[in-house]
Amino acid sequence: MKITAIVLAGGRGKRMGSEVPKQYIEVAGKPLLYYTLKAFETSKADDIVVVCGEGDESFVAEEIIEKYGIERVSAVVAGGKERYDSVYNGLKACRDAQKVLVHDGARCLVSPQLIDRVIGALDESRAVIAALPVKDTIKRRAGSMVTATLKRSELVSAQTPQGFEYDLLLAANKKMYIDMAKSGRDALGNITDDASIIEAYTGEKVKIVPGEEKNIKVTTPEDLFLVKMHLENLKKAVDKTDVF
Ligand code: C5P
Repeated sequence: MKITAIVLAGGRGKRMGSEVPKQYIEVAGKPLLYYTLKAFETSKADDIVVVCGEGDESFVAEEIIEKYGIERVSAVVAGGKERYDSVYNGLKACRDAQKVLVHDGARCLVSPQLIDRVIGALDESRAVIAALPVKDTIKRRAGSMVTATLKRSELVSAQTPQGFEYDLLLAANKKMYIDMAKSGRDALGNITDDASIIEAYTGEKVKIVPGEEKNIKVTTPEDLFLVKMHLENLKKAVDKTDVF
């Protein structure tokens, strides 16, 4: 039973306002993408397909994967315009995968335990997401006016990794592209995760497993600050252990 992880690093990180795409920013001496790949290398995933920005393939292969000795990467491919285009390129680069995990490379604090929890749930379900209950009160708005307050007990905040049977996710993506060819990209609405493609184009139920508080997606400079604190503290703890 081969499980392939698709790690997405094909975004340009416009919200970060930095010259370097966020996944390549160095924290505690290593690029953020390194930490993400290391977590997958320590998990039960068999191999990793990295999806990066077009033209970044050799940089990622040489300056991250080879330089830091990540051994489980089987392919590095270019992403596409939207996140789902990058996922589709990743799916096409998988070889003989029965199950696939999709993960935002920008969630660099993901733990191998969370990855393995999603993999474990794939024994019983064909589609699985990691998610957490929401803490804030979530409101619907029109412009700057509130139109409704949603029932918090019914809401979760979806994270990655998300896991799927390979054939199911590929088929759902193909249906989405057929739909897109008919109705145009804009008609699809916001597709910001992979489970939503399963929900829209298959009858499959999506299982939820507990995510992790620290598994944030580095999106803004504030997120980067939190990740920095976390990784630098970890490094300090490791360096201390080395001394003794
Ligand atoms: O932009 P967003 O927050 O949705 O990005 C989530 C993840 O998807 C990031 O790790 C980003 O690098 C990746 N992505 C991608 N290709 C795109 C857009 C985003 O691989 N076209």
